[in-house]
Amino acid sequence: MPFQLLEDRQAIVASVESLLHKDRKDVLRRVVVLSAASDRDDFVDARLKELENGGKGIFNLLGRRRDRKDRRFGDTMTLEMRCERGGHPTGRFQRLQMEKPEQLAKQTRTNNCPAYLSFQLFTREDVLICVERLSPTHVGHNLEDVEEYSVCHITPTLQECIRYWAEFPVTNQFLLNKSVTWARNNGHNDAHDRRYYVTIKDIKNIRATVAKDFQEDPNDAVSVSKLCGEGGALKEQVVFYQALDQPNEVPLVLILQTPWQREQLKKYGQEVAFLDATYSGITAYGFGMYSVVVQNAHGCGVPTAFLFLSDEKEATLFLAMAKLKESLQQHGFAWQPR
Ligand SMILES: [Zn+2]
Repeated sequence: MPFQLLEDRQAIVASVESLLHKDRKDVLRRVVVLSAASDRDDFVDARLKELENGGKGIFNLLGRRRDRKDRRFGDTMTLEMRCERGGHPTGRFQRLQMEKPEQLAKQTRTNNCPAYLSFQLFTREDVLICVERLSPTHVGHNLEDVEEYSVCHITPTLQECIRYWAEFPVTNQFLLNKSVTWARNNGHNDAHDRRYYVTIKDIKNIRATVAKDFQEDPNDAVSVSKLCGEGGALKEQVVFYQALDQPNEVPLVLILQTPWQREQLKKYGQEVAFLDATYSGITAYGFGMYSVVVQNAHGCGVPTAFLFLSDEKEATLFLAMAKLKESLQQHGFAWQPR
């Protein structure tokens, strides 16, 4: 259990309340009692999600969390947050605010919204106390206007999911479908809501950030050479690699296979293997990707090798298949697929 709310602790709540100063009139304050072992981050995250899903707004951390010694409560951690639309418009948005203020929230999230939220966490009498202060009035934007969400970021949870799915060799369309299913399963049904409904362009952008994590060099060709070469991250999986050399009309041929995939091919691909082609959806350059697929004992298709080719000429594919066979031969497997 990451955190646990403790009910019926009126005495502790009252004693904490008696030590708190008066807050501004518009501030909603509540004192929550949690078990001592509760994870503070989990609790805060859950509360933020609750506010977001309850239509109370999205709050972002303002600066860093502060740890300090409080005169009344001892070691205290304070998180101060404000509405994600709390920033001040600059440049052309500043002009827009003066000329057409009703347009501002549809074009930028810098709406001067004063809504804020803070958490003050400390331990007292063997329990964890959280004093939450919420100034709930949003100004300058309308939480119920879906059109205004067009300037919002995609919710971080969904971004994380897409990043994870994008590690597999799947198409952007596949990721889009998966994202829509995710949104529906999480109870978000308005397809205009940009926070939960992504576009192909968003997916490409997210993919680009994933690629960056793997990228060894800003030049993709150099990057591939480094990844596949001595000491590269893919070295162990590279069956064959021929670098693209356009002036001399040498096509890119890259064959990847893990030892596990090789075993699967040995086991189930004695006679029949399928070549599954996926075009352009995968690579930024529109290179072809082929998977050598076998059917395992459960009737499932298992990709046992991936071929990346820069053109679709018969000779290129023939070379790739010959190199794959050669490599299998070296591992004691005479592959003669029909
Ligand atoms: Zn707001």
